[in-house]
Amino acid sequence: MASQEEFAGYISPYSYVQRLQERMDEILDRKVPNSGRFCQFCYARLARDIESCPYCHTEGQELSTVTSVPREVLAIYQAKKKTEERWVYGGAMLGLLIAAGVFIALVVWGSNLIDSQRFALGIAFVALIGGGYVLAQLFGPLICGQVGYRRGSRKRDVMWGQFLEGRGDRNLG
Ligand SMILES: [Zn+2]
Repeated sequence: MASQEEFAGYISPYSYVQRLQERMDEILDRKVPNSGRFCQFCYARLARDIESCPYCHTEGQELSTVTSVPREVLAIYQAKKKTEERWVYGGAMLGLLIAAGVFIALVVWGSNLIDSQRFALGIAFVALIGGGYVLAQLFGPLICGQVGYRRGSRKRDVMWGQFLEGRGDRNLG
């Protein structure tokens, strides 16, 4: 049975699509070639002589194969990947901007608070570099990454649903 896997507060209606994302990312990143033997229903890469698809569980005579993942299908997975990446980068950028703002504030006003100007500048640089790193991580992968994951996954799943409809195929949940 396909298990429902929840991540970042999102449960995909297509558990096999969620599980295939990483495999498709590898193809999109050209870490593995888009050629071989793939399930004709879900486009999971299949081992030689396998009789049922480990992702969508199509089996026996129903299981037919194709030699590559169609571009149209890769675009569906790419939509999720791109959406998530945009949120991660945007969040990281926001974190860096906040650190830069703190840096400028410390440079402008820090020497009023601390007698030693050199010491104030030192603190400002620590805030810029250390704070920039921490805030970029916090707003990037941790906060915005989760939003991006949910939005991207939802977008991908809607596209996959439309793809199945367009293909006139059974809609495996
Ligand atoms: Zn399959």
